[in-house]
Order: sequence, then C-alpha cells, then structure tokens
Amino acid sequence: MKVAASISELELARSELMAGATPPVIAYVPTMGALHDGHLSLVRLARGIADVVIMSIFVNPLQFGPNEDYAKYPRTLERDLKKAKKAGVDLVFTPTVAEIYPAGRQVSVKAGAIGEVLEGAFRPGHFDGVLTVVLKLLNIVRPSVAIFGRKDAQQLACIRRMVRDLNVDVDIVGAPIVREEDGLAMSSRNRFLSPAERASALVLSASLRAAAQEPAPAAALAAASRLLTVAVDAGEIEVDYISVVNGTTMAPLPDDYTGPGLAVVAARVGTTRLIDNIELVFPGPERP
Ligand code: AMP
Repeated sequence: MKVAASISELELARSELMAGATPPVIAYVPTMGALHDGHLSLVRLARGIADVVIMSIFVNPLQFGPNEDYAKYPRTLERDLKKAKKAGVDLVFTPTVAEIYPAGRQVSVKAGAIGEVLEGAFRPGHFDGVLTVVLKLLNIVRPSVAIFGRKDAQQLACIRRMVRDLNVDVDIVGAPIVREEDGLAMSSRNRFLSPAERASALVLSASLRAAAQEPAPAAALAAASRLLTVAVDAGEIEVDYISVVNGTTMAPLPDDYTGPGLAVVAARVGTTRLIDNIELVFPGPERP
C-alpha cells in the first residue's frame, strides 16, 4: 500500500497505479481517520467495483464550528494505515491542512438550503466545509466512483446535490450503515462515550427502529419521540432534532406521503454528539 502525504506524492503514486493498457477504475473513500468497521465496509464496497482503491485521511478544519471538537477529534494514523492496508486500500492520501488550504484561498462551495436544515441548523457552515473539501479532494484524486456512508445521510444528500448542480464527473455510491451488535451506529466519536453513556446512546437506534414500525410519517415521528423523551426526562441525552424527511431533499414528509423516507436523529450524550438515521417505507392505505 502506498501512502502520499502531499498532492505531488499523490499524483506520482496515482500515475503509477494507473499505468497499464486499459485505464483502471478508481474508487475513492474519503475519511477523517480513526477508522472502524464502517469505514472498512466502504473499502470493501470499493474493492468490489474498482481496480484501484484510494482512501484519504484528513480531519477537515473547515467543517468544524468554533466550539466543536476539531482539536479533540481522534487522530490514530499508524493504526489507520494498518487497517487500510489489511482492507485492501492501494493508496492512502494523508495531506496536511496547509496542503489542502494554502494561505490566500478564497473560493469555497456553498451547500444552499439542503445544508441549512437539521445538521446544518445546529452546525452552521458545516456542509459548506464538507462540500468544499470533498470537491477539492475529488479534483485531486480524480476517481470514477466515490463512496460515502449512509450514516451521514444529509452529507450524502448534499454531495449528490453538489455533483448534480456543479456537473462533477464522478459516480456517488452510498454504503449501508454499519452498526455494533446492539444497534449503535459505528462512529469515530463512540470512543468518547463512558460505559453509562454508551448504554444511554442505544436509545438513538432504538427510537429509529420504533419509527420504522409505523405506517405514516407522523406516527413514525411520534414513536421515535416517545422513546427519546424518556431518555431526555431521565437526563441521559439531549436531543438536537428528530425528524422524518425525504432522503434526497431533507424536507419533512407530509403525513399523507407514501414511499421511501428517512428518520434522522441527532443527540448529545454527555459531551459527545451522535447522529443516526434509518430508511423507512410508508406503504399507503391498502387497496380493497
Ligand atoms: P468520517 O471519517 O466520519 O468522515 O466518515 C468517513 C466516511 O465513512 C463517510 O462517508 C461516513 O458516512 C462513513 N461512515 C462513518 N461511519 C459509518 C458507519 N457506521 N457505517 C457506514 N459508513 C460510515
């Protein structure tokens, strides 16, 4: 496995991997490191569809607010490189902040309305930061396919929207959420949870599973809210939002909606902020 710490090293390693009669398909997996099985499932998916798998590990300062956990975000590069190699990554790009954001940079991407609701309402500018780095990384890596986890459903929707609105020449693939056995969605931030907080955090996935049992958006929202409220009243979590939305636009679903939807939740457990979501299908009334 090759490791490139700068754009010029990336260029060199990329052209070596591309050498051959037929240009190979490159699949790209962007990450912020602290790799877990969720990230590695993206690599497995990439391996299945491409000849060359490139991963990046870059904690993007632009997507963290001033009071967020940028400084504290876990950085475990040596361990990450071992995991990436074992999972079959061909090339890992590990740029510095100065390499990605040289002094004097001015132009950035704005997510627009899709980036201002839900996560965007609680983390102003977050998706502008995500889209700016993703577009830069796509331009540097130049893959045919880029793979993102459905764990970050709004991020995936924003990226799909950017690719469409800015005619970015890449196929975006969304990968299923990988969970711990007890239902907790895997996240680099789970390591910050104490054993008691980790137990409290299970209410997020439990509330989403409850939502998925319901036949219509309002009932789904009510079912999830009921469980979350118990945990809030017990002082175990603080909920930022719970909503039932269209997975493409992130707009709330009206109650007469039928078809696929998404229940999304964000909550703080102690000082750790967690997000999760579940795909729902609202079947509509049965026909006689
Ligand atoms: P991050 O390192 O948190 O920026 O995540 C990098 C990529 O891994 C993103 O596309 C995430 O959506 C994806 N990812 C993170 N956690 C999971 C998970 N539990 N299951 C599937 N994908 C995930």
